[in-house]
Amino acid sequence: MAAGTSGNTVGAKVNGSGVKASDTEDFCWSEALAELTGSAASPSINIGAVCCDRQVALGQGARIGVRWLGRGQERRDLSFQDLSDLSGRAASVLTSLGLQSGDTVAVLLGRVPELYISALGIWKAGGVYCPLFSAFGPGPIKARLELGRARFLITTEDLFTRKVVPNLSDLPDLQHVVLVGEDGRSARAMERCSDFYAQLKAAAPMAPVATRQEDPAFMHFTSGTTGTPKGAVQPHRAVLAHLVTGRTVFGLVPDDVFWCTADPGWVTSTAYGIIAPLVCCATTLVDEADVEPRRWYGILADERVTAWYTTPTSIRTMMRYGAALARSYRENSLRVAASVGEPLNVEAVQWGQKALGVPFLDTWWQTETGAIVIANHRNCVSKPGSMGQALPGVETALVRCESGVAHMVTEPDTVGELAIHSGWPSLFCGYLGEYDRAEGCFRGDWYLTGDLVKRDAEGFFWFVGRADDMIKSGGLRIGPFEVEASLMDHPAVAEIGVVSKPDLLLREVPVAFVSLNPGFESGDALRLELLSFARQELGAGMAPREIHFVAELPKTNTGKIMRRMLKAKASGESDEADIPTLQPCPGRFDDE
Ligand code: AMP
Repeated sequence: MAAGTSGNTVGAKVNGSGVKASDTEDFCWSEALAELTGSAASPSINIGAVCCDRQVALGQGARIGVRWLGRGQERRDLSFQDLSDLSGRAASVLTSLGLQSGDTVAVLLGRVPELYISALGIWKAGGVYCPLFSAFGPGPIKARLELGRARFLITTEDLFTRKVVPNLSDLPDLQHVVLVGEDGRSARAMERCSDFYAQLKAAAPMAPVATRQEDPAFMHFTSGTTGTPKGAVQPHRAVLAHLVTGRTVFGLVPDDVFWCTADPGWVTSTAYGIIAPLVCCATTLVDEADVEPRRWYGILADERVTAWYTTPTSIRTMMRYGAALARSYRENSLRVAASVGEPLNVEAVQWGQKALGVPFLDTWWQTETGAIVIANHRNCVSKPGSMGQALPGVETALVRCESGVAHMVTEPDTVGELAIHSGWPSLFCGYLGEYDRAEGCFRGDWYLTGDLVKRDAEGFFWFVGRADDMIKSGGLRIGPFEVEASLMDHPAVAEIGVVSKPDLLLREVPVAFVSLNPGFESGDALRLELLSFARQELGAGMAPREIHFVAELPKTNTGKIMRRMLKAKASGESDEADIPTLQPCPGRFDDE
């Protein structure tokens, strides 16, 4: 359990010395708990149960919970009754395969109906849902299956063959693979494998396990600057934050059609593609295809999407096609549109108004926070270009370290590291197996986010940059270490430094600076070989876009690669002066 979380259950009001959201004073998370469980003091809650079984019990079983649009013309609707029944069967299958409470179940699937059935089933069985990006190469997938100690994997035969089988002998923890047949029929049987639908058909739905609020429910791998990826674990009580933010940010009600375009491997898909709409009894719309503006405008209009959550990269892609194209489609039903993952510029916010009739509202959160914590939300005045204000129930502060002492920044418009007081329900419980690493993110009860921001006099946050060297490319969080470690496996590479370079569409892309081992010659042939080696191992999203050969990498006296210098070089800047920096903060605040 990470410092500051100490396994507390919800029920307390927020407190501390930071800045509270204006309407936070009387905010109490236990009201959400009472609504979902019938008791403000309930020690147990199960995300799977409250997302579907509860809706059935409330007489909403016939409503559409998941509406799936296939890449072609296919479509499939799953009512809350269907979701309840199928997820109960999935839970039963996993349990009969030997799943025990707290076991990790990795899910390597695209945006398909089986993803939703699996997630709900895993929660109802007491397992930990761990989705993986299907665009990753075999290397990152193996690393995550290994680090997550996944005992079960749900995937397709194609993804399994291409991305898992090459490393299967190195995954002794993996006990069983459930395959979703590409055509929905029985997948080819292999050792340790069984077929998703055949198993579901044969199983009887089981009642959900009475998980405790603090029991682990889902885990997403995320990256920092150093070390291997980290599995951030969120508890079952996180659903309280999804219920509340689903309402405050998006105003979700049962008649809504909510469309979250995130990849299933990203926490945004779990929190806002699955949990928030279902717990609010709205329909979650799922489009299997990748971003394509014409298709998207058609979906917005034809499916009467009322609330939309997407990314700045997708918005920039649509902007390239022009507002006239958007307006040429039948009028949409959008009430609210929002974005997350990277800064959203003022032009993009205004373009939303012009092209779609609603401005894009920027929201801020990260894997570790588990749910939106800062937003321009529909009930408040929004400030285009800002990330918005802290949401009710969230207490924020800016922290800065001077002369070895951490203190809170109270002057407006001053840069500091964004800190959030623990006590909101979706805060991660730690990184799996690496609680020391998670403790490093806490100062007392404050969680330090690693993001540098300014807060203006009205409480709006403005993104400045990262305090570390993490790369954000098209919304994907990339740890330079993981990319470097993979390329080090190539015999030509002696040393490597991976940094971000600005990009007009993706905002940042990873680029690599490489020094070579004796006997290897720099040049286009080796550059292409290294680029293709990286794409194959890591997948296209994570692989460097450029390779620069250098005689030696710039280092500090202690031998650490000076990434800031490489970053300035990659951006074509003559120096590193405008890259923000803060000293790391010590363990406690000056006033403690
Ligand atoms: P992830 O954990 O992959 O969701 O990445 C979280 C990181 O994405 C944050 O720590 C920020 O650096 C960045 N991020 C998320 N939302 C925003 C936003 N609205 N503006 C700027 N950066 C953002």
